[in-house]
Amino acid sequence: MIRFLRFLMPMLLVVFGGLHSGASLDAGSEALLETQLEQAKSQDPELAKLLAEAVRQSGKPNVHEFLTILDWCADSRDHAGLTQSQLSQVFYYFNRELEEPSDLNSEQLQAYYLPKIEKNLPANENTKLLHWAFRPDFYVLTKFENKRSICLRKGMPSDLLLEFLVHEMVHYARVPAELSTFETQLELDPLAYSRRMILQPGDEADAYLFQYSFVVRHDGKKRLAAPIGVARFWDEKGLFWGRREDLVLPILEDLGYFKKRFRDEYERVLARQVQTKAQVLNFARQLLKARQSEVTEFADTLAKRSVFLNWVWPAYKKQTQSLEALIAKNEKSQTSLQALIREDFKQCHDLRALARNQLVPLPSCEGP
Ligand SMILES: [Zn+2]
Repeated sequence: MIRFLRFLMPMLLVVFGGLHSGASLDAGSEALLETQLEQAKSQDPELAKLLAEAVRQSGKPNVHEFLTILDWCADSRDHAGLTQSQLSQVFYYFNRELEEPSDLNSEQLQAYYLPKIEKNLPANENTKLLHWAFRPDFYVLTKFENKRSICLRKGMPSDLLLEFLVHEMVHYARVPAELSTFETQLELDPLAYSRRMILQPGDEADAYLFQYSFVVRHDGKKRLAAPIGVARFWDEKGLFWGRREDLVLPILEDLGYFKKRFRDEYERVLARQVQTKAQVLNFARQLLKARQSEVTEFADTLAKRSVFLNWVWPAYKKQTQSLEALIAKNEKSQTSLQALIREDFKQCHDLRALARNQLVPLPSCEGP
C-alpha cells in the first residue's frame, strides 16, 4: 500500500595528496636507522613506546619491516620529512521511514535499518566500519580511510635522519585514524584553524614536543637546532616546562608552518565542507520531493478508503488512523526538511564565500 522511497548516494569525497610510489630507502640507510633506533630505544622508554605504536600502525611485524615503508621525499626543498595521509571519506545517505518505531536509541535504530539497507551497499562494504549519524529525517553512514606514508629528505647526516624520523613517527602513529571532523564554524579564519589543528593529538605540537625532548635527552641542549622561541621551553635535561599551547605561535611563526602548511590546508578543508554541504542539500531536496509525492498518494488512499469505510466500519478504522498518523509525520518531516535546506544552503553559501582561493573546484550549493 505504501511505497517506500529509498535513496543511495555513495560518493568518494576527498583525497588529500597522493601517496608516493612505495619505493624505499637504500639498504644501507635502513640498516643504519634500525641500529640507531634499537640503541636509542633501549635507553628511552618514550621512544620505545612510540616505535611500537608506529610498527602497529604500519601493520608490519617488526621495526625492520616497518623501516621498509620509508621512502626518500621526491621534493624536499622545504621539509626534512613528511608524513602523507591519503584521507578518504565515503558517505551513504538514506531516508528514515515514517513507520519507524518511536523511541529507539541510536543502537536500536542501527539494528532496525541495517538489514533494510545491506543490499544497497556495495557488496564488499564492511558494515562494521561504518559510522552512523541519525538526523531527524535521514541518516548518514560514513566510512573513513586513512592511508599513511613517511618520506625523509635524502642526504641528511644520520643523526638528523633519526631525529626527523622520530618527528614523523609521531604524526604517523598518533594522529587519530578517523578524520577529525572539522565542525562548521564560519567565524574561523586560517589562523584560528591553524591554532586549533596544531594542538590536535599527533599534530605539530606533539611532534615537536617529542622530537625536541628526544634530541635534548640524547645529545644535550647544545645540539638542539630550534629557533629560540621554541628552544626556550626545554631545560638542559630535555624536560619541557611549558604548556602545549605555548608551542602554537613559535611553530606557526618561527618555524613558518602557517605559510608552509596550514593556509593551503584550510582552503582544502573549506572546499571539503562545501562539497559535504552540497551533497546533504542535494539529498534533502530529493527526499523533500519524495515526501511531497508520498503525501499525495496517502491522501488519495485515504479518500478512496473513506467512501469504502461507510459500509465496512469499523474494520478499517484502525488502519485509517494509522494512515492519518503517517500523513501527519510526513508533513512534519517536510517542514523540518525545508528548514534544514534553508539553513544548510546558507552555510554552504557562506563556506563557499570563505573558500576564496578555491584551490579545489567547488560544487554549487544550488545542486545539479
Ligand atoms: Zn610535522
